[in-house]
Amino acid sequence: MTDIELTNFGATGMNEHAHDQLVSAPEQRVVKVLRKTPGLTRAEIAESTSMPRSTVSAAVRHLLESRVVEEFECADSTGGRRPTKLRVAPAVGNAFVAELGQHHARLGIASREGELLATDDIKIDIEIGPEKTIKALAKGWRRLRDEIPGALVSAGLAVPGPVDGSGHVVGAARMPGWSGKDIAGMLAQELAVPSVIENDARAAAIGEWNCRGRHLDSCIYVKAGTGIGAGWVSGGVAYRGSRGLAGDITHLRVQTDNPLPCTCGNSGCLETVASGAAILRRLGHLGSSISTTSQLVTAENSGDPQAVSLVRDAGIRLGEVLSNLVNFLNPVRIVLGGSMSQMSSLLAGVRSELYERCLPMCTEHLVIETSACGANAPLIGMSILDSHMPISQEGNH
Ligand SMILES: [Zn+2]
Repeated sequence: MTDIELTNFGATGMNEHAHDQLVSAPEQRVVKVLRKTPGLTRAEIAESTSMPRSTVSAAVRHLLESRVVEEFECADSTGGRRPTKLRVAPAVGNAFVAELGQHHARLGIASREGELLATDDIKIDIEIGPEKTIKALAKGWRRLRDEIPGALVSAGLAVPGPVDGSGHVVGAARMPGWSGKDIAGMLAQELAVPSVIENDARAAAIGEWNCRGRHLDSCIYVKAGTGIGAGWVSGGVAYRGSRGLAGDITHLRVQTDNPLPCTCGNSGCLETVASGAAILRRLGHLGSSISTTSQLVTAENSGDPQAVSLVRDAGIRLGEVLSNLVNFLNPVRIVLGGSMSQMSSLLAGVRSELYERCLPMCTEHLVIETSACGANAPLIGMSILDSHMPISQEGNH
């Protein structure tokens, strides 16, 4: 399977070469069953997994040695030595985390349970390629590391392109030179810790899930920034799809009289009309001096009529695409994140279009709101993926 079971933390893409605690298939099954039902004994694990008791004992011994699971209070017994209950140990240590954009990166150090301890923003151009980008990220991370006590034991990078189940960037138009390369391996080599990469919108959806107490019901998370992406989380699973493209709404076609060419080679894609870049382009044609997303946010927030109108229009186009997904998936919640979500006109446009186009039963209880963890969502998502690496290979089977 290539999807990410959040309840079991089956992250994929962790680079195995730098991993000195690789876990076997029986160990993965033990961790999975203990995540689902903490407090089982070895005998109960053997029963529920149908593995021989000797296999379970060996797996548990290694997991205890590597501190992936821990023993706690004794279970009742009818006599003799009382069997010990087991559970998955809280993740220890901190993670290097980052979200990479076209021209910037947000770096952080986070606990492996999802708490951000420090962040920094740096300018970077993704077109310089993965080797130089990773060197620049590492430099920024080392600066942060010096401020935060605690061991750094893993790294996670969210990227603005599709990532497949083997942890490779797949055909990302906005990331020339990145496709097919072992980015996680390069990170692992630079930082000397196990590393993982993930699509930024999916990482943000996972971060949002964590911020909401890990009880987020079916949710479409939209990352609206310079570009537009989305992630789909349902029933504790972040869906990746067969090639890593699940949730990618960037190139869904919208109705338009004058379809503009898109980076993907088609024309009339959502990104060409509803992204931050598309709004800035339209403002430029209208002779506006607004040329960056942050200037756009400031203008919209202060009620600039041109900015408000164009952002609301973008929200309507986004709502048009989302209405099809809402009718199909019937989610509980739509969450808007990314820099564009700081503009209320976007949310208003999305909301009005959804109510206009969707079946009333689909929108009756639909919650449409902005992100609970804001710009930090992808970083938090990456720290969570990292923290549960013991079963990270699961997705590669
Ligand atoms: Zn396109």
